[in-house]
Amino acid sequence: MLTICNYHYIRNSFENQYPSIFGVTQEQFDNQIRELGKTYSFITLEALQNDIQNVLSSDINFMLITFDDGLKEQYEYALPILNMHKIPAYFFINTINHIERKVSAVHKIHLVRSVISPDEIIKLIQGKFGRKITALEKNTAQSFYHYDDPANASVKYLLNIILNPIEVESFIDSFFCDYFDEEDMVKKLYMNQDEIINLAKLGYIGSHTHSHLPLALYSENRIISELKISKKYLETLCNEPIISVAYPYGKDAAINDKIGDLAHEEGYQLGFTTITGTNTTNSNLLLLNRYDCNDLPGGKNYSQL
Ligand SMILES: [Zn+2]
Repeated sequence: MLTICNYHYIRNSFENQYPSIFGVTQEQFDNQIRELGKTYSFITLEALQNDIQNVLSSDINFMLITFDDGLKEQYEYALPILNMHKIPAYFFINTINHIERKVSAVHKIHLVRSVISPDEIIKLIQGKFGRKITALEKNTAQSFYHYDDPANASVKYLLNIILNPIEVESFIDSFFCDYFDEEDMVKKLYMNQDEIINLAKLGYIGSHTHSHLPLALYSENRIISELKISKKYLETLCNEPIISVAYPYGKDAAINDKIGDLAHEEGYQLGFTTITGTNTTNSNLLLLNRYDCNDLPGGKNYSQL
C-alpha cells in the first residue's frame, strides 16, 4: 500500500501583517520526516514508476513525499533535509510562473490577504460583485475552514468556492500590482529554471498543470491544454520525461474521473489528487489519493485514534 504526504509552504516564519498562509517550518518538516519514518518505508521513485502494482499490493506501508506549486522555499528548506535523510520526492510545477512570468492566482490571493485585512477584502468583494455574504454562507464558510477565524473563513470561502474563478482572478489582479511587483514575486516565490533542472535530473519533477485552475470547472479543450503545455515545457527545459501530474486543488468540484482519463491520454502515468486515503490495488493510478501533511503522523491535526 502507498500513502502520500503533500506539502506546500515550507518557511521559517509565517509572520505577516494579516496571517494568510499556513505551512510548516523547516524544523517541523524535519521532525515530521523522522516521525513518518517510524511508521512508513519511504519509496524510491524507480519502484513507484516501474513497479507500482507490487507497491500497491504490498503489505509494507510505503510513503511518498510530494510538494505542490514549485515554490523556491521547498528547494531551499525541504530539499536539504530530504537529501540528508536520502528520501526522494516529487515537486509539482506550474508552468505559467515560468512561461508567462505570472504569479498563480492562488498565490496572489495569499499575498493580497497578507497585506489587506479580511474585513476590507469582504468590502472590496461587495463593491466588485455586488453581493454580501449571507448568514448561511458564513456558517458554511466556518465549517469549511474550521482552522480560520470567521472573517478569514468567509474571505476564503467566497474567493475559493463561491465566486467564479475567472472573475476572482481579474478581481485580485485589479489591485495585486498596487502592492506587489509581479516579476519580483515570481523570482522570490518560485524555483528558477536551474533549480527545476537539478530536480528533474533526479526524476523529482512533475507537472501541476500550466495555470493552477480547478480543472473540472473548465472545458475539455482547456483541460487538455493545461496538461499538455506544462508537460511539453518541462520536458523541453529538463530534457527528461514528465510522467506525473498533481491536479490543482485536487478534490471536490476541481477533479473527476474524466480528468484522470485525459491525463492518461496526454502521456501521464501517475496522477495525484488531494482526496484523502491510502492507495491500494483498487486505486486508479491517474487519481491517487494524497493526505495533507498536517493530517499524518507528525502533523498538527494528526491524532491517533
Ligand atoms: Zn497547488
